[in-house]
Amino acid sequence: ALGISCSTAKQNIAAVKNTGKLSIDRKVDSLLSLMTLEEKVGQMNQYNGFWDVTGPVPKEGQAAKKYEHLKKGWVGSMLNVKGVKDVKALQKMAVEETRLGIPLIFGFDVIHGYKTISPIPLAEAASWDMEAIQRSAEIAAAEAAASGLNWTFAPMVDVSRDARWGRVMEGAGEDPYLNSVIGVARVKGFQGDLGELSLAACVKHFAGYAFAESGKDYNTVEVSHNTLHNIILPPFKATAEAGALTFMNSFNDLDGIPATGNAYLQREILKKDWDFKGFIVSDWGSLGEMVGHGYSKNLKQATEQAANAGSDMDMESSGYVEYLAALVREGKVSEDKIDDSVRRILRVKFQLGLFDNPYKYCDEAREKQTIGKQEFQDGVLDMAKKSIVLLKNEKNLLPLKKQGQKIAVIGALADDKTSPLGSWRIAADDNTAISVLEGMRKYTGNQLVYAKGADVALGTPKFIVETKINTTDKSGFNEAVNAAKAADVVVMVLGEHGLQSGEGRSRTQLGLPGVQQELLEAVYKANPNIVLVLTNGRPLVLPWAAENVPSIVEAWQLGTQSGNAIAQVLYGDYNPSGKLPMTFPRNVGQVPIYYNHKSTGRPGGDTPTESVFWAHYIDSENSPQYPFGHGLSYSKFEYSNLKLSSNAFASNGKITVSVDVKNNSTVDGKEVVQLYIRDLFGSVTRPVKELKGFELTEIKAGQVKTVTFTIDEKTIEFYTVNDKWEAEPGDFKVFVGGSSDTELERSFSYSK
Ligand code: BGC
Repeated sequence: ALGISCSTAKQNIAAVKNTGKLSIDRKVDSLLSLMTLEEKVGQMNQYNGFWDVTGPVPKEGQAAKKYEHLKKGWVGSMLNVKGVKDVKALQKMAVEETRLGIPLIFGFDVIHGYKTISPIPLAEAASWDMEAIQRSAEIAAAEAAASGLNWTFAPMVDVSRDARWGRVMEGAGEDPYLNSVIGVARVKGFQGDLGELSLAACVKHFAGYAFAESGKDYNTVEVSHNTLHNIILPPFKATAEAGALTFMNSFNDLDGIPATGNAYLQREILKKDWDFKGFIVSDWGSLGEMVGHGYSKNLKQATEQAANAGSDMDMESSGYVEYLAALVREGKVSEDKIDDSVRRILRVKFQLGLFDNPYKYCDEAREKQTIGKQEFQDGVLDMAKKSIVLLKNEKNLLPLKKQGQKIAVIGALADDKTSPLGSWRIAADDNTAISVLEGMRKYTGNQLVYAKGADVALGTPKFIVETKINTTDKSGFNEAVNAAKAADVVVMVLGEHGLQSGEGRSRTQLGLPGVQQELLEAVYKANPNIVLVLTNGRPLVLPWAAENVPSIVEAWQLGTQSGNAIAQVLYGDYNPSGKLPMTFPRNVGQVPIYYNHKSTGRPGGDTPTESVFWAHYIDSENSPQYPFGHGLSYSKFEYSNLKLSSNAFASNGKITVSVDVKNNSTVDGKEVVQLYIRDLFGSVTRPVKELKGFELTEIKAGQVKTVTFTIDEKTIEFYTVNDKWEAEPGDFKVFVGGSSDTELERSFSYSK
């Protein structure tokens, strides 16, 4: 296509690479025209790199096979290789030893930080602070890119309604809108200017993975067309539009078709309707899992189905490299489809600048200077503080006094330097987080006594099966109770071990693991002045604590700077402003419980006493323990004066919503002002409330701030019975407040 006709392939490729200002698409086409079928398929193959890549040449087994394939140019990407030395060694093989010298792209799960760990994504979502979240992704990208990596398998934008599912920690919770804006902030943070400190993003898991039945990871998914389009897909669309370079498909099936072999999702929706130009990588071995699903006869058929459905790159199942060329020759997969996939992959490699300089990310000096920088520590500390949610604060226990208090700190998690790192922090070492105890000890004005009380976990939790994670040992209770008796205030740090959430870590019970609940109650008897600091990777079910404990702080797993962030909040040096991105249930039987549920045909209020006809339980209230959007502050915010500029609008029109928020306290603070809308009727049934906007705003002590939002057709659009997004005429309610259960409401109507 470029009129290049050099005598050898190597010269050709050199010419293609040096074509300067020509568009990437033309360069890609030229390169493609030089490739054999096997080389094309090679680009579509991704291998995991867990072997000593700079050691002796592997002689047998998987590693030897991968090594051979690398030299032949049958590998387009590697994952789980890290560090400039290793990346460079493999890149050198690809560039210097293969016929065409096409560089590899190196992927890695940089989920919430690389070496310097930021809060788990669910915690970051609780900040509702897009600037901070984007910055956190930038930090993660900078460290990982300095370590040779080019591509992160993040963000996860799966709307998650089921707290039993361990991977809720990886996303932004239960709301499609919040997942969309946060997903976009993360994509921007990771990809930046696609320079040497940026990574390509990979939006995952496309689609439906979080709807695994009964919260059991990898389980069957049952979702309606309506839920797919209105709830699950919006964050994927938003991140695709924001320029995410890649997508990952998913382990689950959807309406009977595994996502990896799902042409409706990949070809119809993503590539055609949304005009996505990047590539889709399969999830780990998910091609092979189509056999397990009972959808493919064998790996060869799975390969055919995945390639035909638009899955461009095969992560670690070897299906593509083994069978795809043969399937093309047999006429089962067209070469056009292969070309389309390869174009997409090469385009991303060009966009990242890997052809201009395959060693762009391989600078050892930069690696040394970049990892763990002070400004990154400051950034993740800032993010950690912003992620904390004050769930309850009675009896004025918080903030703690800076002096003159006797404080007992109780709980194994208070002294834990690993659990705060959470799940998915593969490159970070154990014991590298600041513990709560260390953070609190920096405040020296008080007498501080520590007692462990009880362990959270026994042994080292394994990746998939953790049989022995709970302990029953209560021998530390006495010491804890005595410490509590002698204290003015007790700070109890309880929750989940850092590896009790994440992939393959579903739970059926959402209380405090082990004997922590018993410890809490024993300590409470000795001294009820308890500040409960929760560190966990998912919503917990803690009805007793919610009822009895005066102060509860949701501190999630906050990463490297965890203890410093928590201490600053406890001592009032930072005024918390986080809001829950996921509903906290009263009991596990309510799960899945989420604020944007549908109404039913049954009349009545929200409690069984108001009407037994309402969809209800006979043994629990319908309401959650803490609703979506809930979070307190040391300031006291009061909402009033909710006004609409008009109570009706038509096509191309709009309404302005305004509300006054008063900080009725003596402390400056920040509040997330939330806008919800209810569409009273539609061509398909509509949720009782949907988040449509929010503003994180600083309000000084005593000050009143007027916050405004705009409602237009875009705001009220949904996926209708006509199979498209549109605004339907009708009546609506608008709610504004500091949580999803706000009662401040007005009405408006929309006509065409
Ligand atoms: C997970 C993905 C992850 C991949 C690579 C899979 O098991 O589902 O989210 O990116 O592994 O580590």
